[in-house]
Amino acid sequence: MKKNIEKILSGILGIASAIPGYAQMSDNVPKIPVPVQGITEQSVPKPPDKEEILQSLRDLNRTPEKIEIRSAMCYDMVQAPETVDFACPDCGKNNSYSRDTFPGEVSMALSQLLRLEQTPFKIKTNAKAFCTICGNGRPKELIMSLDCVGCRTKLGWKISEKEEIQRIHIFFRSFPITYFDEMTDTGFEGNSNTEKLRSIASYVYSRLFCPDCQKRNPVDMQSDLENKK
Ligand SMILES: [Zn+2]
Ligand SMILES: [Zn+2]
Repeated sequence: MKKNIEKILSGILGIASAIPGYAQMSDNVPKIPVPVQGITEQSVPKPPDKEEILQSLRDLNRTPEKIEIRSAMCYDMVQAPETVDFACPDCGKNNSYSRDTFPGEVSMALSQLLRLEQTPFKIKTNAKAFCTICGNGRPKELIMSLDCVGCRTKLGWKISEKEEIQRIHIFFRSFPITYFDEMTDTGFEGNSNTEKLRSIASYVYSRLFCPDCQKRNPVDMQSDLENKK
């Protein structure tokens, strides 16, 4: 689980692990990504095109066998500290959390979460609940918000599980998706690739499109059938 997050981060930043000092920066990564030499086209997604996203999600559902699954390289991290710091993006206070907890996972993924706003989906992360000053004793959840890709209605959802933190990586990908990196993209183990891909498709779809747009633009076979009734 811990390693997953490290892999996700390094997957997103591509060659981040090769940047000297990157590991030390993790508590206080600037909100604007630093230019990295050799960055690939994949790292700079095109603005989202509704039809292209929908078609890609349909392909994930209908022909998952056409998606290439690239296996990830495993590597060991140096002995990780027991606690991690959550540097509050709103007030700057440092809050300390045990690494194995949900707040610990959020702390480790914070720079990545804040970068979601720079993706074409412009997903905003409200992490105030994890700050002892700004949180006011609120439940420890992330509040995510964005505009529906279909109609620009304001949408939002809450994240309160480690597993979902590992899935948000998917919003850094550009569409259409033609391959996945095992572990970093799929995040969860134990299912067949087909199940994983369908689960990803349904996750992305439910986060990017409001219920009305979902009704108008079904992506799975089940809702297609319902639509034809
Ligand atoms: Zn704060
Ligand atoms: Zn909509």
